[in-house]
Amino acid sequence: MGEFDLIKRYFQRTASPVTHGKSLVQVGIGDDCAVLTPTLGAQLCLSSDMLVEGRHFFADVDAQSLGHKALAVNLSDLAAAGATPRAFTLALALPKVDEAWLAGFSRGLFALADAHGCELVGGDTVQGPLTICITVFGEVPKGEALLRSGAQVGDDIYVSGAVGQARLALEILRGHVQADAKADAATLVALRDRLERPTPRVNLGIALRGVASACIDVSDGLLGDLNHILQASRVGAQVQTDWIDGSLAFALGGGDDYELLFTASANKRGAVQAAAHKTNVPVTRIGLVTQQQELCLFDAAGARMDNCFSSFDHFASR
Ligand code: ADP
Ligand code: MG
Repeated sequence: MGEFDLIKRYFQRTASPVTHGKSLVQVGIGDDCAVLTPTLGAQLCLSSDMLVEGRHFFADVDAQSLGHKALAVNLSDLAAAGATPRAFTLALALPKVDEAWLAGFSRGLFALADAHGCELVGGDTVQGPLTICITVFGEVPKGEALLRSGAQVGDDIYVSGAVGQARLALEILRGHVQADAKADAATLVALRDRLERPTPRVNLGIALRGVASACIDVSDGLLGDLNHILQASRVGAQVQTDWIDGSLAFALGGGDDYELLFTASANKRGAVQAAAHKTNVPVTRIGLVTQQQELCLFDAAGARMDNCFSSFDHFASR
């Protein structure tokens, strides 16, 4: 099968696209450029993420899960900006034409794309070591994008969902950690899904427009990613650890969580809970933004943990 047949068969869709609202796409796959008409008054948010075999996923990972994850990690960046997903491009390097793999990959990819009304508008396909690069295009009302730089002294710090489970799943798959002997099969599948089929918090990000003062998605580990907010905002933080069940190291430095980590003024506590409730994603208040430009952890007894950040650096950098 040639390159063009492959694109036509697996990536160019004949049914009309699933969109949320009006499609922006005037010209999609098949011409030299896709042509999009942005929503009047909106700003565009763009992000790219690349997944490389051996580095970001195991060679034997299920193709459908990989299609899901490749788009999910990109949608997670849009979520962190509070942007509504609109379109994406897909650049693929494939070692060979494996139709079963392509069918699974495109199924996982389009299931998530359709769930968010995000249209595939173009890409590139070449032969080479398995590599997937997606660029997503989202929109926000002018001036409403959530940035890393907006945290203010006195703001609360929150994290959505649960952190540390993707890392736990990875360590179990690698054989470094024993799965809980009491865990049933369904629990183990759910845990593995946290690693291989993450849920981008797109609706929560949108609901946090005008509520969160700063936001980032947790891809490299909570403390490392919080540090990005602190640096960009020129502030520090006090973080509690009493909300963590399971490994502190995995929760604070695990990575691959794709949860939202954000700050909001104390007078927005009600609005934060309303956003969580509306989108059906739990959020936990985990700390406070401080003037002192350092990151301090507090244990369950409320005592300051010494040299806490440096001791978790190792996990944050993996
Ligand atoms: P060009 O040579 O002009 O860059 P190509 O021949 O590489 O275009 O691709 C033909 C068309 O197919 C283009 O519209 C391109 O965007 C699209 N395309 C190529 N690869 C993919 C892919 N993996 N997914 C979606 N669209 C693709
Ligand atoms: Mg061309």
